[in-house]
Amino acid sequence: MDGGELAAHRIARIETRTVTSHYPRIVGKNARRGVHGPGPQSQVRIITTDRGAVGWGLSAGPDGALPALVGRRINDLFEPAVGVIDTAALPLDFPLHDLAARILGVPVYRMLGAAGPTSFPCYDGAIYMDDILPEDAPRGCDVILENCAADWALGYRAFKLKIGRGHQWMPPEEGLRRDIAVTRLVRERYPASLLLVDGNDGFTCDQFLRYLDAVADCSLYWIEEPFPEARQDLQRLREFLAARSPQTLLADGEASPDIPHLIALAREGLVDVLLMDIVGLGFTAWRRWMPTFAEIGVRTAPHTWGVPVKTFYAAQLGAGLGNVLILEGIPCVAGDLDGSAYHLAEGVLHVPDAPGFAVTLRDQ
Ligand SMILES: [Mg+2]
Repeated sequence: MDGGELAAHRIARIETRTVTSHYPRIVGKNARRGVHGPGPQSQVRIITTDRGAVGWGLSAGPDGALPALVGRRINDLFEPAVGVIDTAALPLDFPLHDLAARILGVPVYRMLGAAGPTSFPCYDGAIYMDDILPEDAPRGCDVILENCAADWALGYRAFKLKIGRGHQWMPPEEGLRRDIAVTRLVRERYPASLLLVDGNDGFTCDQFLRYLDAVADCSLYWIEEPFPEARQDLQRLREFLAARSPQTLLADGEASPDIPHLIALAREGLVDVLLMDIVGLGFTAWRRWMPTFAEIGVRTAPHTWGVPVKTFYAAQLGAGLGNVLILEGIPCVAGDLDGSAYHLAEGVLHVPDAPGFAVTLRDQ
């Protein structure tokens, strides 16, 4: 797709706004972080061109050098085949992808080449440690099942459980027992669902193998960040899985990713799925790295917690480039962003055939 049409547009205005998303409930703790709250406030930027085209997207950081981009031609900042080509415009990575695809009249994924599917399994990423809250009268395991049932009603069929309660919230043995109990409970209630577990690097290797020993018959779909990714620990985990749960995938690379290190681990078969954040790494950077990931045979599932629009960004990346295995879904009930063009049914998220990222900003 050539970007000729982009040359006809210059940036006329860059507006910065804060938008709010609402989770269906207060989201509690993971192994490392306290209560996540009712939903995030996120900074977005809206670009308007001198010909009236508009694109927007998540865009962190201060204005800095952005005012100097007013007057620049879009094709000097962005190439459809690459993404952002001027580092001064990198804070506008998502707004520029949205804008360029809208000018070209195509979904972002078509601008990327439409090499992947347009529907993806999408798991529920919001099953946190709500059983240990409120601190003065913890609700216990039942609330985990209530949360799963509520998200099932929203269309989710796969669940990711936060584990590692013994890292700091409970005494280690009690925390381990609770992690095991929660995992077995959800597996029992949902025997056919994909079940993922995420330790947020809150275990030692020995602790994690004890957890796994107790749930090895639960057919875990993936294990995410059980402990910081050290080769020897991953080798022990891989050997354990080969013997006890060979279909379980190892997913890593969300926290402080060192991509060359992750690639080396993936080449050794010690990581199956890479999780770098869709915004933290950036859309242009994901586009640059994906061919390498595909070539070495490591799948991806960009981290998207906890802004719902990030799931749609990851969906467009996967539909455009392929090699995205599954999406992290963020249950959302309302807010300033309208992503209703994306349809979640029976655990599958369908990507719409509409221009840009196909998410609109509601008037505030
Ligand atoms: Mg995680």
